[in-house]
Amino acid sequence: MDKKYTEKQLQGIAGECQKFEHIIAAMGYGYSLLNVAEDDYVRRCTDCVHWLDGACGIFKQEILQWK
Ligand code: SF4
Repeated sequence: MDKKYTEKQLQGIAGECQKFEHIIAAMGYGYSLLNVAEDDYVRRCTDCVHWLDGACGIFKQEILQWK
């Protein structure tokens, strides 16, 4: 888990992001492997395929508004 950002930030941004795609779902297993409904689990940027260790451009834009 990346300690640079708070859980609240990671969840808040992912929760509103249109591009969120869960890493496990993206691997082709679908959301069933997560054992929760797609709309039900907690979205977090660090679980997103676009996260790339904090390099996501959308995240970088959004995080500016948190400071
Ligand atoms: S990592 Fe980027 S694309 Fe993924 S949910 Fe966060 S802001 Fe959106």
